[in-house]
Amino acid sequence: MKFKITLIIIILIKTAFAQNVNLYTPLEILGAYENKTRDVSGKPGINYFQNFANYKISVKLEPYKNTISGNETILYKNNSSDTLNSIVFDLHQNLFKKGQKRSKNIHESDVGKHIVVDSIFVAGRLLNKINDTKLWNTKIKIKLEKGLLPNSELNLQLCWHYSLATETKIRTGVYENNSMFIGYWYPQISVYDDIDGWDMSSYDGLHEFYGEFSNYSVEIELPENFIVWATGKLQNPEQVLSDPIYTRYKAAIKSDKTTKLITADDIQNKMLTKSGHNRWIFKANSVSDFAFGISDKYCWDITSVELNTGDRVTIHTAYNPNSKDYDKAIDISRDVIKDFSNSSVQAYPFPQVTMFNGAGAMEFPMITNIGTEPDLNGILFTISHEFLHNYFPFLVGANQKKYAWIDEGFATYLTTSTQKKLGDDFDPLVSHIKVYESYAGKEQDEILMTSSHFLDNRSYIINSYFKSCSAFHVLHELIGEDKFSMCIQDFIENWQYKHPIPNDLFNTFNRVSGEDLNWFWNRWFFQKGYPDLAIDTLTISDSKIKIEITNIGGFPTAIDLKAYSNNKLINHINIDARVWKNTNMHTIEIDFDKTIDKIEIGDELVPDINKKNNTYILN
Ligand SMILES: [Zn+2]
Repeated sequence: MKFKITLIIIILIKTAFAQNVNLYTPLEILGAYENKTRDVSGKPGINYFQNFANYKISVKLEPYKNTISGNETILYKNNSSDTLNSIVFDLHQNLFKKGQKRSKNIHESDVGKHIVVDSIFVAGRLLNKINDTKLWNTKIKIKLEKGLLPNSELNLQLCWHYSLATETKIRTGVYENNSMFIGYWYPQISVYDDIDGWDMSSYDGLHEFYGEFSNYSVEIELPENFIVWATGKLQNPEQVLSDPIYTRYKAAIKSDKTTKLITADDIQNKMLTKSGHNRWIFKANSVSDFAFGISDKYCWDITSVELNTGDRVTIHTAYNPNSKDYDKAIDISRDVIKDFSNSSVQAYPFPQVTMFNGAGAMEFPMITNIGTEPDLNGILFTISHEFLHNYFPFLVGANQKKYAWIDEGFATYLTTSTQKKLGDDFDPLVSHIKVYESYAGKEQDEILMTSSHFLDNRSYIINSYFKSCSAFHVLHELIGEDKFSMCIQDFIENWQYKHPIPNDLFNTFNRVSGEDLNWFWNRWFFQKGYPDLAIDTLTISDSKIKIEITNIGGFPTAIDLKAYSNNKLINHINIDARVWKNTNMHTIEIDFDKTIDKIEIGDELVPDINKKNNTYILN
């Protein structure tokens, strides 16, 4: 998801400098090392496991009534060494239940539009909903008559229905002209992992998700003329698209050129699909969720791009013809996917991506829900951020409920170079650092390692997006481009389609960079503090100017020192953040020059919350 924040006035708080190179490790994580499910190298351990679900979902959506009903069959495999006495499902739609605890407001007319589970079968046996299940906020726990043994499979079947919320638009919603984005819509088996066992953290409308990598086969039934865009590949285009649209589709799907598959004229002519109700079939393997968008009045553009791996990615944009500049989104999407291939994250990992023009900005595997943006830089910013989420968390699946700074931090930071390259006079990193600076050191500025679901709206946004972005930038500058890229690629390689935790990330960087960076992680991720360097004293002796610099806030950043003579730069020194590993005071000497009239530290790309103590004027 993407957030924008307005800058507010800075309040400065001093914290004491402290040095500690041992990272605090909670007991569950020590247990994971002991059980060898994780390794201190930052790689999965020899006993790492993940459970697996194979979903077959059949769903009927009635857009004129705003209702949806479904029938899903799941084959669930327990790959853990534990016997499971229950199965836990997420019922995200229970966000709309009356009395539900929420961190986001919902429209009062949508209260009560929660999911109704009509029936549950376990291994063919119909459950008694009162005796065999327990509802807990947006979770439902199903008791198993016989435990599910390690390496065993279980068949589950659920029927359900609900009315779509029509006024509330939190990440999904009903938009004008019969256009809808449907997410968090089906009972989804929660993650069972080596750290927490079952994930029992409920959805509150603010915090994000944690999904198990699963296979999906989904059939979506809709009235005539409605188009569906979804996670996964459309299996039966010839059965659902009208003949002229299908002819264009076949040619477009592997073309490097952009095809206007459905235009405003086509929408006017109402010849988009085959007649009668259509059943759209999609398949997606190893994805952590499934979402889709529908419309009978959206334009549809397609292009595709061949990556440097030889793989081809098909790109779709589905948009309201009245949305400003969205007809350009397809070309921006292509440029973004191409640019990612040459960046730290490398080749885009899925066969397709779709940008659906709904509201806000929310990522789902292979599809993203994006509202209308004010300008092209806004579209570029949002597309690149949301597309990057296909790497984090949809390829490397860290728990967003606890460690949102991993996926949001990477989506915010790793896209800045793409945005700068492709944008029009646009350097997002400068503005991200400014946003972080405006909150750093205040009460709302929480320690990065605080579990995301404990944070309120503002603390959550600062931590997950801007503080982590600033920390990754300082780290990148510290270890250099080559090592930073190698660390990211190693992390992706070892944790793709798996669930890393922050310690795995820290240990990967320590191993791959060949440097114990615990002192850095400890300050930026485990401690209170902020970036604030200051020129403490300046003395002239033996033809030298000695500049003593203090690290007031405790967070390590580079020292960027410039000496000016009559506004002309005559000396520029950049010292990386390692200088603060064992000290909070550093002295820099430069040759004396009687014309030097100003010495300054800092730069717009070096986070520093107080610029007033960065300058020394010499008479
Ligand atoms: Zn995001």
